[in-house]
Amino acid sequence: MTTTRFAPSPTGRLHVGNIRTALHNWMLAKKGGAKEQGRFMLRIDDTDAERSKEEYVEAIRTDLAWLGISPDGEERQSARMALYEAAFEKLREAGRVYPAYETAQELEVKRKILLSRGLPPIYDRGALEMSEADRAAKEAEGIAPHWRFKLDHDEPITWEDGVRGSQKFDPAQLSDPVIRRADGSWLYMLPSAVDDIDMGVTDVLRGEDHVSNTAVQIQMFTALGAQPPSFAHEALLVGKEGKLSKRLGSLGCDAFREQGYEPEAIVALLARLGTSLPVEPIAEREKLLETFDLSTFGRAPAKFDDNELHRINAAIVHQMPFEKVRGFVPDDFTEAAWHAIRPNLEKASEVVEWWQIVTGPIEQPEFSEDDREYLGEAARQLDFDADDPWHALTGALKESTGRKGKALFLPLRQALTGMNHGPDMGELLPLIGEDEARERLTRAANG
Ligand code: GLU
Repeated sequence: MTTTRFAPSPTGRLHVGNIRTALHNWMLAKKGGAKEQGRFMLRIDDTDAERSKEEYVEAIRTDLAWLGISPDGEERQSARMALYEAAFEKLREAGRVYPAYETAQELEVKRKILLSRGLPPIYDRGALEMSEADRAAKEAEGIAPHWRFKLDHDEPITWEDGVRGSQKFDPAQLSDPVIRRADGSWLYMLPSAVDDIDMGVTDVLRGEDHVSNTAVQIQMFTALGAQPPSFAHEALLVGKEGKLSKRLGSLGCDAFREQGYEPEAIVALLARLGTSLPVEPIAEREKLLETFDLSTFGRAPAKFDDNELHRINAAIVHQMPFEKVRGFVPDDFTEAAWHAIRPNLEKASEVVEWWQIVTGPIEQPEFSEDDREYLGEAARQLDFDADDPWHALTGALKESTGRKGKALFLPLRQALTGMNHGPDMGELLPLIGEDEARERLTRAANG
């Protein structure tokens, strides 16, 4: 069974990049359909006690629920420290972690020297040269060590990446990563591997920025006696003018919700952005799942464009069933009203303004003498016994006044709705109703 996970750090709200990663992991787990239903797990990466906030944990859960990406289980790293401790002991006994005493400044100097010689800034394993006495001396000075994972340099690290294809890393070209700080706290690398093993994660799908972490973590899985999961790294998301990071705040899940975007629109867009499949306003998740395939993911950065979200959102609203809006429209708002108004909306919430046009009061523009006379005529000709009062009215007025085109339609629309454009009048007029329509026409005629 496929098990995937989404592992956010609760240090802020979910932004569009996180949502995309969560969605793709959910899709990877669920794409088999009901028969081969995989598991999608939420893992809260809250080892950084200072920056992690409970309100963000709550917000992550709320955001995922709003998007309809529901986890099949949740784990929190802060509750799993004993597991990391045990793994650490195991690696220590096997000689795969070692204490190091360099200060941040010393490491920086080493880095600069290597860079100035045109060499890659790889950690020189100076700590491995230390004798027992050297270490005792450091401890006596009150300097506690941080801990590094010792990479095995014997063989290249290889994997078949779900997006990037064959990957190969020479471990000697990587620094032994620091996995634990001097104060005992954990860096991301080891706990993540421990959890992936313990949670039975079969597929790790994450951003391209994690590729070199994967090389290191593959050795951790092996050192802990586990088979590494399958890995896939998707290209990063960028904005239409380049980097997204600056604007991420404005592209958070909360902002999308406040701006009235439908979760279906966000999901439809992010599901296929950066893939070779066309981005389409597909509201049914099943349909998106059917076509989900890592082999369609491109290597070039995916471009997020809010105009595209806007377009997809409008198209989703235009096909949205009445049940979806029932919750936020007035009781007397009917399904027919929804169908009349729906094609004019970009956001579903705008329906409230349109309904206001139906129920009134509306504000009319100033009309010319000529138009006032015309609208008076319209008030007299209005006939709700006709099958289609709007076409009956405009047909009769065309006959009696000789007006056509804009001169025929626009004053009527302005008098009846106060607007220059909007929903189809044939559908709108019956919703406004006979008395109210006649009152509006008469009012316009009287100026
Ligand atoms: N908490 C890590 C991050 O947000 C998780 C990375 C991973 O998926 O392993 O970058």
